[in-house]
Amino acid sequence: MSTQLMNTYARLPVTFEKGRGATLQDTNGKTYLDALSGIAVCSLGHSHPAISDAICLQSKKLMHTSNLYQIENQSQLADKLCELSQMERVFFCNSGAEANETALKIAKKYGHQQNINHPIVVVMDNSFHGRTLATLSATGNPKVHEGFSPLVEGFIRVPFDDIDAIQALSDNPNIVAILVEPIQGEGGIHIPKKGYLKILRDICDQQNWFLMLDEIQTGMGRTGEWFAYQHEGIVPDVLTLAKALGNGMPIGACLTKGTASEVLVPGNHGTTFGGNPLACAAGLAVINVLESNHCISAVAAKGELLLNQFKHALSQQKHVVDIRGIGYMIGIQLDRPCTELVGQALEQGLLINVTRGDTVRLLPTFVMSPEQTEELVTKLTQLIQNFLNP
Ligand SMILES: *Cc1c(COP(=O)(O)O)cnc(C)c1O
Repeated sequence: MSTQLMNTYARLPVTFEKGRGATLQDTNGKTYLDALSGIAVCSLGHSHPAISDAICLQSKKLMHTSNLYQIENQSQLADKLCELSQMERVFFCNSGAEANETALKIAKKYGHQQNINHPIVVVMDNSFHGRTLATLSATGNPKVHEGFSPLVEGFIRVPFDDIDAIQALSDNPNIVAILVEPIQGEGGIHIPKKGYLKILRDICDQQNWFLMLDEIQTGMGRTGEWFAYQHEGIVPDVLTLAKALGNGMPIGACLTKGTASEVLVPGNHGTTFGGNPLACAAGLAVINVLESNHCISAVAAKGELLLNQFKHALSQQKHVVDIRGIGYMIGIQLDRPCTELVGQALEQGLLINVTRGDTVRLLPTFVMSPEQTEELVTKLTQLIQNFLNP
């Protein structure tokens, strides 16, 4: 491994050479079942032919022109995303953090339009919104903040899934928005009580705050709906997407509705690469595949089945604290730190993740076969059992 790389990742000792569907192959020819999808990115599996073809064709036609000109693919992708999400406008960028930066700039300017000189965005404990200065400041994890003060100001933090804590802020005249993940991903797959988003929506309506949903991990079918807020029948004012939007092609998006669509004007925000013809060709191909063969409702059904298989297989394990999930977003929380499981799984040819130290996180591809699903359940159950009862 190159020592010229900046020391930002403790990487596992494996190099993948190619991938196909739910599997990857390393440089020694060993195959792995990928139950992490490059952290919820390659939802449609590796080297999906329709997406590879779209990228290949577009790259031979045109890759980049800049946002100084009209871009047909960008307009088409915006139309498509708005139709699916009930949002109205889209700003394309290259990552999740950039999508959230856009959302935060919209919130700040919305405040200044109302002569609020120190606009405040409400954010959650245990949240994750990215690694840029503003998004790490919004993130609710002290470890992410360490060493980077002074942080960006203008955030108030409250516990996740706690309506009373939000209601207690209703007299604060500087609040302009709530930024929240519908399900906390990096935070350990935390699913709020039913009705949480709906109540947040009501509060935001009463207070004229923007409800800004970070669906960078939960969006694009991951939870068994196009977007997680659709489980609760609401629509946000601002929505951020990235990860699975390009199935590996870097692309992010910030979508708005109503008043939030009117905040930014030319000169307020921009990007050189964002929304280029190549990235948008990938996005269009992804949506096309997700729309075919009941792909997303299958994620809902298969996810529930997988969750129940784990619940059944691990039902005798008193050291398993909780097994929770929705769609293909599953967390298995143990009563102790279990980061070693990642390396042990790798040896067994299985890619998983552990987040928050004690929670096995699964974000499988949507294209796992029944045999591969069986393999995932068998191998992971065995690994967890051996780990808990050595
Ligand atoms: C991954 C993630 C981000 C950051 O996305 P990047 O593309 O890494 O900048 C932000 N929010 C959530 C919920 C995420 O899962």
